[in-house]
Amino acid sequence: MKVAVFSTKPYDEQFLGQANQEAHQHELTFLETRLNETTAALAQGFDAVCVFVNDQVDAPVLEKLAAGGTRVIALRCAGFNNVDLKAAERLGLAVVRVPAYSPYAVAEHTVAMILTLNRQIHRAYHRIREGNFALDGLLGFDLRGRTVGIIGTGRIGVEVARIMRGFGCRVLGYAHKVHKEAEEVGVEYVPLDELFAESDIITLHCPLTPETHHLIDAEAMAKMKDGVMLINTSRGAIVDTGAVIEGLKSGHIGYLGLDVYEEEGDLFFEDLSNLVLQDDVFARLLTFPNVVITGHQAFFTHDALESIAHTTLGNLSEWEETGQCANAVKA
Ligand code: NAD
Repeated sequence: MKVAVFSTKPYDEQFLGQANQEAHQHELTFLETRLNETTAALAQGFDAVCVFVNDQVDAPVLEKLAAGGTRVIALRCAGFNNVDLKAAERLGLAVVRVPAYSPYAVAEHTVAMILTLNRQIHRAYHRIREGNFALDGLLGFDLRGRTVGIIGTGRIGVEVARIMRGFGCRVLGYAHKVHKEAEEVGVEYVPLDELFAESDIITLHCPLTPETHHLIDAEAMAKMKDGVMLINTSRGAIVDTGAVIEGLKSGHIGYLGLDVYEEEGDLFFEDLSNLVLQDDVFARLLTFPNVVITGHQAFFTHDALESIAHTTLGNLSEWEETGQCANAVKA
C-alpha cells in the first residue's frame, strides 16, 4: 500500500523502514509535518495514512483524506482519543491501532517517575554537579508498606501493580471491570473514593474518554491524602491542570509526575529551546521542585518502537489482504 507517514521523526523512519524491509512491501513516504486540515492535502493518492498521538484526525481532516482516496488510518500508538471514529465510519475509513506494544515500557517509566520524585533524584543530580552535597530537602520515604492506587488496571496498570507489589506496596485498583490477572498480582479492587482516600501514590492508566476527562479535578483531589503523589503517564486531559496547580501551591499534592499534558500538542516532540515558552500554565508547573515532567516518552524504548513498527505495518497488510483487521477500532 502507499502509506503517508505523518509526524515522522528519525526514529520512526528507522524502525518503520526496517520492519517494512524485513516483513512487508508497503511504499512508505515519510513526512515530518503533523497531520491537520492544511497538510491533509499531502496524503492525496495515498491508500493509507499513518499517524501518532498529536496528529489531528477530526471530521474535517478525515473528509479531506477520504476525498483524496485514503481508505485506512493506521495509528502507531494505543490511544485513539484524537480520532473522530464516528466520522471515519461515516466516510468508510478503517481505523487500526497498536493496542499493545510494550506495556513494560510505560509501566517502567511510571515507576521511574515515582522513584525520582520520592528520592529527589532530579534535584540531587543538579546539586552534586554544583558541588552541593547537603541532604536537606531530599528526604524520601520507604515504598515498602505504602499504598499505591492504580486507576485503570489493564495492560499497563497491571505491570505497574506487579512492580509496586515487588517493592512491598499494598496496591488498590479501580477500573471498569475486574481484571483477573491484576487480582492474581495482588490488586485489591475498591470504589474510586476509597482509592483516593487511602493511597499515598495515585497513578493513572485508563484511556482518555468523555467519562475520564478531568477525572482528577479539585473535587477528586479534596478526597486524597495530604501530600499524595500523583502520576499521569496516560493522557493529559484526565487531569485538570489548573486544579492540580492549586493543589501543589497549597501543598495538598506532595509530588506530581507527568509524561502527558493537556496542551502537549503545542509543545511535545519538538525542540523549542530557542523560543519563548508561551504556555503560562506549563511554565507554572516547571517552577515546582516537586514536579517532574517528561515529554510523552514513556513508550520510548527500543523494544516498544520495534513492536509498534511491526504491528502497524502488519495491520496494514492484514487490512489490504482481507479487508479486515483484528486491531481495528470502531465508533
Ligand atoms: P488497556 O485498555 O489495557 O487498559 C485500560 C484500563 O482502563 C482498563 O482497566 C479499563 O477497564 C480501564 N478503564 C477504561 N475506562 C475507564 C474509566 N472510565 N474509569 C476507570 N477505568 C477505566 O490500556 P493500556 O494499554 O493499559 O493503556 C492505558 C492508557 O495508557 C492508554 O489509553 C493510553 O492513553 C496510555 N498510554 C500512554 C503511553 C505513553 O507513552 N505515555 C503509551 C501507551 C499508552
